[in-house]
Formats: sequence, C-alpha cells, structure tokens
Amino acid sequence: MKVLGIESTAHTFGVGIVDDGKIIANERDTLKPLSGGIIPREAASHHYRFAPTILKNALDKSGLKLKDIDLFAFSQGPGIIPALKVGYQLSTFLSKKYKKKLIGVNHCIAHLEIARLYTGMNDPVMLYVSGGNTQVITYYNKSYIVFGETQDIGVGNLLDKTGRRMGIPFPAGPEIEKLAMKSKKYIELPYSIKGMDVSFSGLETFVSKLIGKEKNEDIAFSLQETVFSMLIEASERAMAYCTKNSLVITGGVAANKRINEMGKIMCRDRKAKFSPIPIEFAGDNGAMIAYTGYLMRNYKQEDLEIRPRFRTDTVEINYR
Ligand code: AMP
Ligand code: MG
Repeated sequence: MKVLGIESTAHTFGVGIVDDGKIIANERDTLKPLSGGIIPREAASHHYRFAPTILKNALDKSGLKLKDIDLFAFSQGPGIIPALKVGYQLSTFLSKKYKKKLIGVNHCIAHLEIARLYTGMNDPVMLYVSGGNTQVITYYNKSYIVFGETQDIGVGNLLDKTGRRMGIPFPAGPEIEKLAMKSKKYIELPYSIKGMDVSFSGLETFVSKLIGKEKNEDIAFSLQETVFSMLIEASERAMAYCTKNSLVITGGVAANKRINEMGKIMCRDRKAKFSPIPIEFAGDNGAMIAYTGYLMRNYKQEDLEIRPRFRTDTVEINYR
C-alpha cells in the first residue's frame, strides 16, 4: 500500500511517501523569515508557493505517479490555522480527484511514531521537543498519555526567541547549539520543573536580560544545560513512574547533540536503552505523516477538518 502524507502545521511544507510502511520519499522546504518569527499568513503563502515543487520532487524520488497512491494523509493539527489549511486543501483535493481515502493525522503522534520506527524502541517514554510543543509521553491502554508538558512555551520557541534577541534568524536552535559548544561557563539560571511539568517563560525573561551583559556563547551554553536538564529530569521521572526502560527524543530539538548526550547518560545510569533519532526525521517532515497515515489506514474518521488545538492524548490508538 502506497501512502502520501502532507505536513504543513507551521514553518515546514513537506511531502512524504511510504510503501507498505517503508519510507521512499521525504521532501520539504522550511520557511526562513529574514527577520522576526513565523507569521501565520507568511507560512501559508510559503506553503502554497512550494507545494507543487515539493509534491513533484517527492513523486519523482519515489518513482510513483499520483494515480499510484492508495491513500492520502495530512497533518490535522495542532498548528497554525492558515498553514494547516494548505495541507488540508491539497490532500482533500487529491483524495477526491483520485477517489482514494483521506486520513487526518495528529502531528505530535506522527513525531512519536517516526521516532519509534527509527530507534527500534517499541514501548519507550518519549520526550517530544519542538518549536510549539514540549511533552513527556508514553503509551498506555490505547492512547498516548501526556505525563508532563510545558505550562507555557515550547522549548524550541524558547531557543528561537532567545536567538532572535541575539540577532540569529529563525530557526535559532542549530545556531544556539554551535554557540554553546564554544563555552564551558555556566551562568546560574531559573530551573522550573514541578513533577513532570516544566515552564520556560520566566527563564525566557531572565535570559533576555543577560543578552548584552554576558557573552552569547555562555548564555547559549547555560540555557541548553538548564533546559535540557529539566527535560531529561522530567523524562527520568516518567520512566521511573511507569517502569519503562527506554527513552526516545523526537521533534525538531531532537536534532541537538547535547540533549541526546544527556538522554544517553541518564539512560546508561539507570540501565535503560537510548537511541537517537536520525536528524532527517527529528523536525517536521512529510514522511512521518505518511507513515502514521499508513498505521491508521483502517481508521474510520468522520471529522476531517483541521484541528488547530489537537491534543496528543485525545486520539484512540488502535493499531498498537
Ligand atoms: P519542529 O517544529 O518539530 O520542526 O521543530 C522546530 C524547532 O526545532 C525550532 O524551534 C528549532 O529552533 C529547533 N531546532 C532545530 N534544530 C535544532 C538543534 N540542533 N538544536 C536545538 N533546537 C533545534
Ligand atoms: Mg513538529
């Protein structure tokens, strides 16, 4: 069975194709604004502009034609409304034109499923870290349970906002990572974790006041050490609580070497398994939507609208 998946929740427009669950194409383009953050209508116009090329590139890579596709999948949410609409409209059009089924996929669950696929971990605790989302999740009784999450902004958003104040354009995460590698000077920062929940907005304000007073590399290093420690601590607590012995880290921030190193050390200390996700599949991509669409191929869905506030823990997981 051949599934084509479309991702368009935020900054990235992506098309992925899977053949019986095997990924055979994964093409994308990410909006990189010249200044400032992601503006919803700019994300949408980026996606409309790139959709034809990305779709064509994915089909060329796979050697397939649209008429060969058996099922279309799209990222239903959570996400930015104008951006979500692009993937929704394109996938709805294609499914009608080729008379094939359409599946709506929860974007967060797609990040989790692609991580399980590429790390080979069957039943891990999952730390999902991206621009807008930060959650500690595990599977229980036909759903993904959120054990802990950010009470305000996502960790990627914290890195992006801090980067922006340093003059680094979106996405700032990779540049903050490079800066952090140049420093070993730790500046004490607020560390806010309650149980398995975390909060970043106080930290964001605190760090904003250091810019200009401390070196950017020392700020980057201290910020990474602090927030990644909070997240690995929350993950360890979830692992202990539900006696799971493996961890995966997924989402755009999972491209970061330091968070993976911390995860690995924590897992080694508690004799648990850890394996990093390949960078290609860390951030938003179409392959994860196609793959999750494939897992959900037998679902009967009624509500195929976009769902901007779609929560991870509201989907019944009946393919596991
Ligand atoms: P996503 O929405 O899942 O694609 O994740 C995007 C977020 O990942 C943005 O906030 C990026 O700044 C962040 N990101 C990407 N690469 C890295 C990296 N190497 N280190 C930290 N954050 C990163
Ligand atoms: Mg994402």
